[in-house]
Amino acid sequence: MSDIHPFAPDSASSRGPSEQEELLKRGLVRVSIAADGIDPLLDRRLKELRNALRSDAPPKMLSALLPDLERAVLAADQTRQQRSDDVRALLKKLIRQLQDQEPPTDTDKALRALSKQLDAPENLALSMPRLLRDLTQLQAATFNGTPERAPAGLWSRLFNKSSEATDPPTEISELPEAPADSPAEQPAAEEPPFNLQAQPVPADIDIACEAPAKVSGNISGEEQSYSKVAAHIESILLNLLSEIQLLDQQEAESQRLRDQVGKGLNWYELTVALEALSTLVLNAQQSRQVEFERYLKQLNQRLSQFQGNLEEAQNSYIDSLEEGRSLEGAIRGEVEVLHEDVREADDLNTLKANVEAKLSALLSKVDQARELRDKRDDQVSDRLKTMVERIQVMEVEAQTFRSHLEEQRQQALIDSLTGLPNRAGLQKRMNEEYERWQRYGGQLLLVVLDVDHFKSINDRFGHLAGDKVLRLISMQVSRRLRKTDYIGRFGGEEFVVLMPGTTLDQGAIALEELRSGIEGSPFHFKNERVPVTISIGYTQFCTSDTLDNVFERADQAMYRAKEQGRNRVVQDTHTAVA
Ligand code: GH3
Ligand code: MG
Ligand code: MG
Repeated sequence: MSDIHPFAPDSASSRGPSEQEELLKRGLVRVSIAADGIDPLLDRRLKELRNALRSDAPPKMLSALLPDLERAVLAADQTRQQRSDDVRALLKKLIRQLQDQEPPTDTDKALRALSKQLDAPENLALSMPRLLRDLTQLQAATFNGTPERAPAGLWSRLFNKSSEATDPPTEISELPEAPADSPAEQPAAEEPPFNLQAQPVPADIDIACEAPAKVSGNISGEEQSYSKVAAHIESILLNLLSEIQLLDQQEAESQRLRDQVGKGLNWYELTVALEALSTLVLNAQQSRQVEFERYLKQLNQRLSQFQGNLEEAQNSYIDSLEEGRSLEGAIRGEVEVLHEDVREADDLNTLKANVEAKLSALLSKVDQARELRDKRDDQVSDRLKTMVERIQVMEVEAQTFRSHLEEQRQQALIDSLTGLPNRAGLQKRMNEEYERWQRYGGQLLLVVLDVDHFKSINDRFGHLAGDKVLRLISMQVSRRLRKTDYIGRFGGEEFVVLMPGTTLDQGAIALEELRSGIEGSPFHFKNERVPVTISIGYTQFCTSDTLDNVFERADQAMYRAKEQGRNRVVQDTHTAVA
């Protein structure tokens, strides 16, 4: 018969306190190992705790570790929460974009239910595999179950090739050519032709014969859609991996990711790669934060030292003042005695001896005092020298940090391909212009500009040539805009221009010039002219407009320009009527 009784006191509770303590310590060590890998800072604190527990550190030392550990746990929790909120928002956005595709009713219902589930406060990480599985199925149901229609959003522009179904087949030779010798062509003669070949191209890439997209066999709809843009997504990821500033210890992981992306990703591997990339970026950002905090702490220490030195110098100055005063008193005393001696002397020889003795005592006092003062002065000047050197070091460090931060801030707002403000930079400026317009009113135009049939340029000449076209267009458009206009790359081959102080009529003229300027620009590839045109939609900020409204209107106008045959400027009908 078993001798373990359910209500018998368990073996641990019958142990002595030190044995219990030992058990608790062992348990703590294991729990801390289980919590490893959530966050680098927390990992460090847990390691310290483990080391302290293993080395039987006294309770005082253990309790000293606790505040830091608590802080690290709180910070890790906040980061996890933030990450989880970001993923939640992203998934909701994806769901909204799928809903924009007007899926069949039951799919739409399921999408709504899925979106609701995301609001539940449960641990997102645990339900992620199920959520992603459901989302993938609903996405397939959305695209496979609906008739093709005109593109509506980024999602459809990326994954739904409906434009190919509604548009005539895209052949570069079918694009509208500017009349070769019409007067409108004249500006082209003044500008040197843009020869795509003349731009340096990495020797190992033949832009004329880029491998076709990897589509094969029996693959599902979304995979097929994805495989059409896979090469481009891979090149963006590789670009991103080479541009982001990672920490030295992340180099191996970054290289692994680069190798993986370089070999090609399928639809499912893409999600995993994006996760890994976001972890890399978040960790790097966090470590930089830690580095910055360390710097601030160090700066604080240096400032305290600096203050200490200053106080010492001040004390030493006060001491020397007091010493000066007491020396003066002492000399005055000696001189008075001397005076007395002189007054009362009746023997010249004794007086002489007396005076000599007193004078040499006086002189040696003065010498001592001077020596002391010189020593003090040397100490103070050494201290001041050290302080000046420290300040110089601090200034250099602070400057390095400042420029580092500024560089990062700038980098985050600039598109590395075109050098124009990126979407984040654009968003920032749009908000600023919007606020200014709300405060001071006036005329403000928002313009959406999209390169026509850009995909066929990529397909025909390769992505690197496509990239060059984007750079050249950016240069061309920027050059043609006024100083007060602002242009940014919204994404892909879409740009947004803000034109303050411009009426609709002035905008129409300027944008028409811009459009015809691009049409007339001689883009060349292998001595062959590559026609490049743009479609432009624009609108004016009106009373009670929000930024989103205005953008939506300009975007719709741009789509109308596409529908009406591309290579044209279309004003939004709302403002046309207004
Ligand atoms: P439309 O006239 O209707 O605008 O046709 P389009 O071909 O320009 O539009 P679509 O949205 O079908 O294709 C845009 C293409 O732009 C797809 C994408 O691969 C390509 N693209 C987006 N960003 C970049 C980039 O940075 N470099 C290169 N080379 N291509 C890009
Ligand atoms: Mg386009
Ligand atoms: Mg586009």
